[in-house]
Amino acid sequence: MGFLSTGSVRLEEHLWFRCITPVVVLGLLTNATWSFCHQLCYNAIYRKFGQRSVAIGLMVGEVVLVLILIGIWFQMVLIGPGKQPKLLPFKIMPEDESDTDSEAKESSQGTQMSTNPPRIYQCDPQGYPIWCTACQSIKANRTHHSSTLGYCIPRFDHYCVWIGTVVGRKNYRLFVQFAFYFWAFAIFVIVSTASFLPKIIRSQPHVPRVNPNILIMMGLCGMATLMVGPLFLAHTYYMMVNRTSLEIIATKRRSRATNTWLCYYNAVDGIRYVFEFKALEAQDFWNKRNIWTNLKEFLGDNYLMWFIPFGTNIKYSHPHSSDVAEVLGPYQEKCGERLRDELQHRIEAGNYVAAFKAFGDRSMGEN
Ligand SMILES: [Zn+2]
Repeated sequence: MGFLSTGSVRLEEHLWFRCITPVVVLGLLTNATWSFCHQLCYNAIYRKFGQRSVAIGLMVGEVVLVLILIGIWFQMVLIGPGKQPKLLPFKIMPEDESDTDSEAKESSQGTQMSTNPPRIYQCDPQGYPIWCTACQSIKANRTHHSSTLGYCIPRFDHYCVWIGTVVGRKNYRLFVQFAFYFWAFAIFVIVSTASFLPKIIRSQPHVPRVNPNILIMMGLCGMATLMVGPLFLAHTYYMMVNRTSLEIIATKRRSRATNTWLCYYNAVDGIRYVFEFKALEAQDFWNKRNIWTNLKEFLGDNYLMWFIPFGTNIKYSHPHSSDVAEVLGPYQEKCGERLRDELQHRIEAGNYVAAFKAFGDRSMGEN
């Protein structure tokens, strides 16, 4: 992606720009906390109405929610979206071109220069894997290079302007939890303020007026509810059908060529087939047709941790291996039965754009 970063430097690549919106959001959150705790809870509920325990309870609730939000935020930035481990080039040169001295060279140097191709991988129309020049690595399925962070991100979702970081495989659960708790926070503030508004208005003997800070806070939380609520619901749906924001966006870019290709090893005849897909078909690649299986692929197997906003469900240990599945570990995308059936049907119907034998598949036949 060298040409992209040198030709046109995108705004989010500047650190100052990445910080603007997060600072504004943090400022508004602080302001809302002050309005809620000081103006509403202390001045009105505690001092004027004398409902001390209610005031303290509401204050504690608000502060706890804000602390949870800031805690998730820090974790999202610190843990990051995840970094795709480096993948060596795949051995795909046809058998007759396979020179035995390249193998000899590898063994004599003691370092491996290439690896056997996985059963299924994203590729170009000729069947070659997608290469990232910046990272000097093959891009695994669903990986996308982030020019903001400067590395390849597994299951890249989107760059979040509000939070100021990229959302990917590793911090996705935190992102969904952030949206959920933000929504809960906004609703908590609106409901508790609204329930005291009539009393505040009635307590003014002559002109009914409400502290403008409280009104501004209500307005901001109303906006937050309208923005973050649908966002949370949309991402819940994306997880249920196993899609990323990037895959959704690709279907909406009608002006650009958004076709994708998959290279698949057919165990029956030992041949690799290359299939072409339109963006609308490609967004269903990873859908396992079972809502719970899909949700677990994003949120992890531990149901309790779906709700506890702490840490990540990706535990990556650097294996001493050149096997693609082992190198990728938890970042590997699982090919579901639905996709496998679809590809088998396409082979039977002759609906593929290329077919070839890969050098690295020679050992595949036995297992
Ligand atoms: Zn990259």
